[in-house]
Amino acid sequence: MALIVKKFGGSSVATTEKIMNVAKRILSEKQPNDQIVVVVSAMGDTTDNLIELAQGINKDPYQYTREMDMLLTTGEQVSIALLAMAFQTLGQKAVSLTGCLAGMKTNDVHTKGRIQDIQPKRVHEELDKGNIVVVAGFQGVDEKGDPVTLGRGGSDTSAVALAGALKADTCEIFTDVDGVYTADPRVAKGARKMKEITYNEMLEMARLGAGVMQPRSVEMGEYFHIPIHVRSTFTTEPGTIIREDYTMEDKDFVIRGVAHDKDVAKVAVLGIPNTPGIAFEIFSALADAHVDVDMIVQSIRNVETNITDMVFTVSLTDLPTTKEVVDKVADKLKAVAVLVEKDVAKVSIVGAGMLGNPGTAARMFGALSRAGINIDIISTSEISVSCLVRREQMEEAVNAIHDEFFPKKG
Ligand code: ASP
Ligand code: MG
Repeated sequence: MALIVKKFGGSSVATTEKIMNVAKRILSEKQPNDQIVVVVSAMGDTTDNLIELAQGINKDPYQYTREMDMLLTTGEQVSIALLAMAFQTLGQKAVSLTGCLAGMKTNDVHTKGRIQDIQPKRVHEELDKGNIVVVAGFQGVDEKGDPVTLGRGGSDTSAVALAGALKADTCEIFTDVDGVYTADPRVAKGARKMKEITYNEMLEMARLGAGVMQPRSVEMGEYFHIPIHVRSTFTTEPGTIIREDYTMEDKDFVIRGVAHDKDVAKVAVLGIPNTPGIAFEIFSALADAHVDVDMIVQSIRNVETNITDMVFTVSLTDLPTTKEVVDKVADKLKAVAVLVEKDVAKVSIVGAGMLGNPGTAARMFGALSRAGINIDIISTSEISVSCLVRREQMEEAVNAIHDEFFPKKG
């Protein structure tokens, strides 16, 4: 007997027909004694549409985060009810559970919640009664019982965390792509599907923009030691397994993949005093507003006047909040100006192999320079190098770098 958690994303349940197909597929693959938990996202573009609806009331609805959560959690509630009905229509006992009913406890940071504890007592009870349990992804409840969502793409995190809490045998993430690629195949023509990738590398790829998995979900997988199988809803081909270490593929690659991120904005605070506490002033204000800051560069602008500039990137979604917070701090610091640039993108290489290969970053810069692409900001981690480039050159940059590290065969 196996306990299996399967997650189906929005595109897999976009229509009632697709929901029926998901139910049929699960039943056709189910062994008689398997216990199955299915985590689902909202149908198709539902979440986007709900956000748009809210924007009809206020153009920046994310200032009302609790109400956004009240609104957004309805999306997943629709799909769990319909999928449970689909199972019942096919003669299979099934029950739908909201995040709350499934025991997902989160902190109270609305729209960016984090799972703090899972008490899946009800899930176990329903499984023991012979039900397939359909759980709403992307949502949990805080201490007060208020709904909290886990950030865009949060259903992945719900699924992996639930698999961990249930001590599931496997966790399968069904999506509209058939695995993890060395770059986004829609952007890099030569991108190849990987059989395996480590948690660390996948986490870095996800953080740097590979949209396949929400970064938190990969962290959860590592924490619970649950291998995550990312695969296609529409075929039965095996996909990519995210796990601790490689088991089958050659490990002689220098980098594992190329990631890109268009959801970036650059903010520059110009002409601020170069004195202790300035970075703290700016970034603690942003942290208090729950804004994640990514690349940070501080430059000495003028040695004589001891004035400097602080340049950093945030996600486009966080830009309105960032601007508001930074304008206030800039006033206080008597900064000369706050500049915002939206037409930028981040291109990154990822791979644990680059730790012992100092030439890797140089190869990336070489590929960009040969393509005539200017680098605006560079940042590095132990297993990645990222470059900020102009948005309109992003595709070219991804291809140039990918061709450098994954030359076309034949
Ligand atoms: N429905 C949510 C979103 O679109 C959660 C998810 O799909 O994972 O972000
Ligand atoms: Mg999604």
